[in-house]
Amino acid sequence: MMKKIYLDHSATTPLDKRVFEAMLPYLTEEFGNPSSLHGYGRSAKVALENARDKIAQMLNSKSNEIVFTAGGSEADNLAILGAAYSPQARGKHFITNRAEHHAVIHSFASLEKNGFEVTYVSCDQYGMVHPDDIAKAIRRDTALVSIMHANNEVGTINPIQEIGEIVRKNGALFHVDAVQAFGKIPIDVNQMNIDLLSMSAHKLYGPKGVGGLFVRSGVKLQPQILGGSQERGQRAGTENIAGVTGFGKAADLCRMEMTDESARLHSMQANLGKAICESISGTQLNGHPDLRLPGHLNVSFDGLMGDEILMMLDLKGIAVSTGSACTSGAVTISHVLKAMGFDDSRSRGAVRMTLGRSSEENDLPYIVDSIENCIEKMRSA
Ligand SMILES: *Cc1c(COP(=O)(O)O)cnc(C)c1O
Repeated sequence: MMKKIYLDHSATTPLDKRVFEAMLPYLTEEFGNPSSLHGYGRSAKVALENARDKIAQMLNSKSNEIVFTAGGSEADNLAILGAAYSPQARGKHFITNRAEHHAVIHSFASLEKNGFEVTYVSCDQYGMVHPDDIAKAIRRDTALVSIMHANNEVGTINPIQEIGEIVRKNGALFHVDAVQAFGKIPIDVNQMNIDLLSMSAHKLYGPKGVGGLFVRSGVKLQPQILGGSQERGQRAGTENIAGVTGFGKAADLCRMEMTDESARLHSMQANLGKAICESISGTQLNGHPDLRLPGHLNVSFDGLMGDEILMMLDLKGIAVSTGSACTSGAVTISHVLKAMGFDDSRSRGAVRMTLGRSSEENDLPYIVDSIENCIEKMRSA
């Protein structure tokens, strides 16, 4: 049988068996609606609040500052649109960066169409946002600044605490898309001056379609989903009890295993990057060399198309992703690599490899050999 190696943990992760076990009762016997007053409802309510406690513990926040959503995209939308349309909004000006996830970029595009003003600060060649640029862009009518904790394409970690200090000093709200960082690196919303923070369960071995937004006490958002008074009136709809239980369990496991797992992934990623660059000519590492997510690697192969490398590796059972997508013959280049100032050739040749719990050091030689083999074939063709 062909070896199967999953190197796309930044796209999604498999559900951890321990998470599945924790969810199972809430998909079967424990089916109550937490708004119901009888025993079924009360036990669902207990599960909901237990999950909330676990997420809060990860962030050093209060439990009642966590709003559950149907994933990271919804959390980003709620933070940005919810702050813009809030009666509390201080002004109509917003700041973000060009390398954000589309859930953030497209939320701001929608605001621009509706009469709001958005300043897009650039990032450096590593994909990092500089606090000075935020300080220069911030104004008295800036309602919110949104900067991601770690970039999903290149893995670079932004100086969130420093940016948070500037935003706090200037009286705007600070939103952080921490979907990639949550569960992988420590986050303290108080120390980092964060007012709003987005999370998603499926990026940390939890189920898909569940996430959350940390909303600092006192911050009032305009709800984006209207209906019942669930989630303290901030997000209507009967809660996904199995989902949030899985999310809580997944967060708990990350909290307990983070130190060891990130050390393991850091070293494996360094070894993989080094081996690829040593055995294959014309390679360049993308993203910050040190300030990056554990297990996150992004490499450009000179003169080649990332998409073609992806297809060839897929035939060998290795799953990676790219910085460009070829849709109906036209190549669209990643907005992240463009924002980093790369020429089209370096962007087109970019391949993202993200390691995770299933990755093992002794798979590295097979991975490197397979990539080397593909590249040789493509270059000689
Ligand atoms: C995956 C991701 C999202 C979207 O989360 P979903 O739960 O898939 O909607 C948002 N931001 C970043 C940085 C991501 O990596």
